[in-house]
Formats: sequence, C-alpha cells, structure tokens
Amino acid sequence: MYLADAAWPEAGEQLDDESLAIVPVGSTEQHGPHLPLATDHIIAQGLAREAASRADVVCTPTVKIGVSPHHQQFPGTLSVDPPAFRDYMESLVESLAYQGLNRVVFVNAHGGNVDHLREVGRRVREDRTAYAIEWMWDESIPDLVDDLFDHNGPHGGPKETAMVMHLAERLVHEDRLAEARDGGVLDFDPHTTGRQFGARTFYDAIDNSDNGVFGDQTDATPEKGEELFEAATEQLVRLCEWLDDQPFESLMPKDRVDVDNRDR
Ligand SMILES: [Zn+2]
Repeated sequence: MYLADAAWPEAGEQLDDESLAIVPVGSTEQHGPHLPLATDHIIAQGLAREAASRADVVCTPTVKIGVSPHHQQFPGTLSVDPPAFRDYMESLVESLAYQGLNRVVFVNAHGGNVDHLREVGRRVREDRTAYAIEWMWDESIPDLVDDLFDHNGPHGGPKETAMVMHLAERLVHEDRLAEARDGGVLDFDPHTTGRQFGARTFYDAIDNSDNGVFGDQTDATPEKGEELFEAATEQLVRLCEWLDDQPFESLMPKDRVDVDNRDR
C-alpha cells in the first residue's frame, strides 16, 4: 500500500497488521547530459512501490533529496548536509515506529546516501526503536548487471540509463547517448581511476569525468531496464518477506559477552 494515498481509517487498518515499511530514498543530482536529475529517486520509487504492492507492505512517500555534494558542480544538483540528512531519516524512522512500523527497508538508489543510512540504522537499533536496513538495487543483482553491459560505470552509466528508459522514457535524451559516452569515462576501474599510489585523489565526479558520467550509455535499452527492474523487485520482495519473518528480538543488538559464562 502506498501510505500517502490512504485516508486514515484505511491507513489504520493496514498499520494494525503490518510492521514493515519500505522507504524509497534517492537524490536530485546530475546524471550526465542524457538523464534527468530525478534519476535516483525515479528508480528508488519505482522499485519500492512495485515491491510494496507485490509483498503487501507499506510504502512511504519518497525522500527525493539526499547527500550529493560530489555532484554540486553540475547545474541543478541539490544536496543536504550529512548531519541534517541523518537526523531527518532517524526522526522519520521514529515516526514510523510510533505508527507500529518498526522494521524498515530503505530502498536506496544513491551511493552517497549509503553510509548515512547505515548510520541511521545503527542508531535506531542501538536504542531499540526499530530495525532499519539499507538496500541498493544494483547490489542485489550483481551478476545480471555485469552480464547485461560491457562498460558499466558507477554513475550515469547504462544500468541507470536502462532503468530510466523503462520507468520514465520521456525523460531520457536518447539522442545524447553517444555524447554521454564520448564526453565521460568509458572504462571506470575502481582500483586505478582517480588513484595515486593507492590513495583516492578525487572528491567530486567532475574530477574524473568532464560530463559527470561513466560507462557506455549506448548499450542501454528499455528491455534491459525491464529485466533489471523485474530482477531487483523480486529480490526486494524476498527481502521484505525474510524481514517480516524474523522475531524482532533477534534483530536487536546482542548482549555484552559474559566472561564468566563463556564456553571454554
Ligand atoms: Zn544515480
């Protein structure tokens, strides 16, 4: 159920027998000359809404602006400071827990949010408010992502291009795919790109890529996007089912080790 469409009596009925919420989280940031600034939140919202309806769990409205200072040189990118983002997300989880939703999956589509969402999950678990985990769509289907594209790229590459072609094709500038590829970095190697003697020397996307993107965007098609979307949705549905099955106490932090009673 998409929570924001319900009136409160219907929301109350659903909340009374559901303990799990999906929270889509994205960004509003550059994704090259060919994709909309909304790319990450379009992907997060698409997956979250579809999985929530298939798994019959609650989906909240989408958090559309995340932590994106590393894309700020490109016009239109918006970002919030990490402490503000963490506090906002923690407060949101506390509100969900008050409504009975104390298991949360952050359906995240932006790498810059990962560490902060993990920290929020740790905080709410430490104080036993809720159990919240971060889920990134492409990490749930690494083999398929590898198989579909020869030159993937970590940002604005063919996997994200294909997903937006599937979810919001009218926002993709298909006549700029070759321009995106030729003006960016085709071969991104996490071990060598932007590194000197083992140190990561870059902070911003523009330090490595003139147009902000990586990989071969001409390899993207709506059909590949649909295949990625279906496979990732399936993983997300299964994650929700697994999380729903766990006793809450088993999700909470373990007790401090008792030295006297340890196995010898
Ligand atoms: Zn992205």
